[in-house]
Amino acid sequence: MNIIQVYKQFPTQADCIKHLEKVRWNNEPVCPYCKSKKQTSFKTGNRYKCNGCNTSYSVTVQTIFHKTKCDLQKWFLAISLVLNAKKGLSARQLARDIEVTKDTAWYMLMRIRKAFKEYGDLLEGIIEADETYIGGKNKNRHKDKKTEGGQGRGGDDKTPVVGVLQRDGKVRAQKVKDVTRKTLHGVIKQHVAPGSMIMTDEWKSYNGLALLYGHQAVKHAMGEYVNGACHTNTLEGFWSLLKRGVIGQFHFVTAKHLNKYIDEFCFRYNNRDNKAIFSDVILKAVTI
Ligand SMILES: [Zn+2]
Repeated sequence: MNIIQVYKQFPTQADCIKHLEKVRWNNEPVCPYCKSKKQTSFKTGNRYKCNGCNTSYSVTVQTIFHKTKCDLQKWFLAISLVLNAKKGLSARQLARDIEVTKDTAWYMLMRIRKAFKEYGDLLEGIIEADETYIGGKNKNRHKDKKTEGGQGRGGDDKTPVVGVLQRDGKVRAQKVKDVTRKTLHGVIKQHVAPGSMIMTDEWKSYNGLALLYGHQAVKHAMGEYVNGACHTNTLEGFWSLLKRGVIGQFHFVTAKHLNKYIDEFCFRYNNRDNKAIFSDVILKAVTI
């Protein structure tokens, strides 16, 4: 749904609230504190008083919209803008687009990213696994990435990120504290079904995967990037999208918040063919 459609479908605050009440409660309010379904409606403000625990609430309690002073229409527009921004959306840009302060825009983006967190099924089939480095001053050239010497090869100022990608399927990625065998195997086991075929490069931390998975490696150090079906090119493509977003749009992403940005890029990638993505995000926004 683009911003014009959002404008048309949700012209007022009341329309947005009505929509959230439908999505969250199927129009039958439930107290978020004691789960009672008996309540008294206030005359104004779309609030309810719970007959069970006497607390008052609205549909936005315990959602990403909780206690916001910003119109819900602006939130809906922000969600639509983020979903349509393939290279990411900076707080500064969002602030201009929906006429809020930069601080408000930043806060909204962090909240919206919460609704992008995916807890999905295990990936299976042919899986590409790879690591990359984000941040820091030096250009992260592929061939330089895996020099001899093991840990710290990305440079101390960069944050390592590990990803797994199912061919023609979904991607999962997260920042990690190091790229040791224990860490990389841990991420792969967390996201990939046993019996899958894992494609990696020759980095030694991937050794030993064959106990649980099939495993093939291309030898980047020998100038080899594709060996039949064995390559990590799809994941490399995702890395470059992620890096362009982080470098171009956010200038400086602190390691602390990096996972939220990664979740955003994974979510957009994984929903690239999802026509109902806006509705899905609204549903997640009120059920987190
Ligand atoms: Zn209650």
